[in-house]
Amino acid sequence: MSEKFLSVKNLHVHYVTSDADVSAVNGISLDLYKGRTLGLVGETGAGKTTVARTILGILPKPAGRITDGEVIFEGQDIYKLTEPQMQKIRGSKITMIFQDPMTALNPVMTVGDQIAEVVELHNGGDRAAAKKRAVEMLETVGIPAERYVEYPHQFSGGMKQRVVIAIALACNPTLLLADEPTTALDVTIQAQVLELMKKLNSENDTSMILITHDLGVVAEMCDDVAIMYAGQIVEKGSLEDIFDHPQHPYTEGLFGALPSMKDDEDDRLKPIAGMPPDPTDLPSGCYFHPRCPYATEQCSKEAPCVNEVAPGHLVQCHLRTRREA
Ligand code: SF4
Repeated sequence: MSEKFLSVKNLHVHYVTSDADVSAVNGISLDLYKGRTLGLVGETGAGKTTVARTILGILPKPAGRITDGEVIFEGQDIYKLTEPQMQKIRGSKITMIFQDPMTALNPVMTVGDQIAEVVELHNGGDRAAAKKRAVEMLETVGIPAERYVEYPHQFSGGMKQRVVIAIALACNPTLLLADEPTTALDVTIQAQVLELMKKLNSENDTSMILITHDLGVVAEMCDDVAIMYAGQIVEKGSLEDIFDHPQHPYTEGLFGALPSMKDDEDDRLKPIAGMPPDPTDLPSGCYFHPRCPYATEQCSKEAPCVNEVAPGHLVQCHLRTRREA
């Protein structure tokens, strides 16, 4: 296994407003190794984006609060850093690709200048070098250099997402957080953008946390997978562990809801019954118990521990203490 450089330990994040206390992340632990891609998978509202925002230190203030846990990046607890120290890391060592390229770009600034601005901020203010790097990055993501002077509205959705990727990778980050980077794109452009991200990450040895609800994208891009439900990681392991030996009932449900080429014509998709829980009023015991087909009385009373069902394959469920075939 390569070098571990990011460690999230027992992270709890709440959004506190005058009306509600939303438990968005409820005790997440994960490690990321150099050059590897971790897929963070789950339904909308599972807390995936909050984890990424917490790592990058951009939780919405004042509502977003880390109530427990730590994030260790390259040996430093990033929550002990001052904001100026964090600004040096953000955009250079850790960067993020946001879900919607339409809103991630500044509409009144040329795309070239938007890339150059990030580089200039982190290279000590050398404008000429920043512009040169911006041209290089445009070409790297397949956009001709002469389009440097154009504005976001002159680009298609796929081209805008390429610009967003160029901004994210311009400073050769150690860690890239990609939040549903292809959800807003049509399927053919999705494939091109994923291929481009894969190529650039491997050329620069960048590690990535890829947030998605799309298991097809995970199969294509990830080495390791963490399945999130109600702000917790309920199953974690290598791509093979999760795809070939899913153990948690929620993971089983996600795979059951996928169309299969092998299914008989009469077979129907099997959606997971019920709805994700209200994060302001989480159920007792296992958060999945109201939807789980295997739930027992114990499940509604006691929160399950995390069990290592096979080396490196972790499952949070009362029924899974050893991996079943
Ligand atoms: Fe289902 Fe119980 Fe396992 Fe939760 S602990 S996933 S309710 S079997």
